[in-house]
Amino acid sequence: MQALGAVETFPGANVSSNAEIEAAVRNAATSSWQHPSSSCAMMKKRWGGVVDAEVRVYGVKGLRVVDASVFPMAVAGHTSSSVYAVAEKVSGCDDVVKGENLLMCGVGC
Ligand SMILES: Cc1cc2nc3c(=O)[nH]c(=O)nc-3n(C[C@H](O)[C@H](O)[C@H](O)COP(=O)(O)OP(=O)(O)OC[C@H]3O[C@@H](n4cnc5c(N)ncnc54)[C@H](O)[C@@H]3O)c2cc1C
Repeated sequence: MQALGAVETFPGANVSSNAEIEAAVRNAATSSWQHPSSSCAMMKKRWGGVVDAEVRVYGVKGLRVVDASVFPMAVAGHTSSSVYAVAEKVSGCDDVVKGENLLMCGVGC
C-alpha cells in the first residue's frame, strides 16, 4: 500500500497506543440509523427473544413478524437482501402461511 501512496486517515498515524485507539473508537462510533434491526429478535424467549424460529410472536396467536426486526443480531453488511431472504422463506412456505394473517412490512413484502 505504501507504494500506492496510501495514508492512514483514521484514527491517524499519531494515534498509536491502545488507549488512544480505544478513545478514538469511542469518540467516533455511532449506531446506524440506516440499518436498524433486531428489536423483535428471533431467539429463545428466555434470552429475550420475541419470535420463534418460524417468526411467530411468543404469547400471541396467529401473529408473525417478517422484517429486519427479527434478525437475531445485526448483519455484517447491508440489510435489504436479508429482509428479502426472510420474506421469501416465510411466504414460500405453505405450512407457515396457510390460514394465517402475516404482518409483512416494507421492502420485505
Ligand atoms: C438512507 C437509507 C439508505 C439505505 N441503504 C441501503 C442499501 O443501500 N442497501 C441495503 O441493503 N439497505 C439499505 N438500507 C436499509 C434498508 O432500507 C432497511 O434495512 C430495510 O428497508 C428494512 O426493511 P423492513 O421491512 O424491516 O422495514 P422498512 O422497510 O422500514 O418497512 C417498515 C414499513 O412499516 C411501515 N410502518 C411503520 N409503522 C407502521 C404502522 N404503525 N402501521 C403500518 N405501517 C407502518 C412503514 O411505513 C414502512 O413501510 C438503507 C436505509 C436507509 C434509511
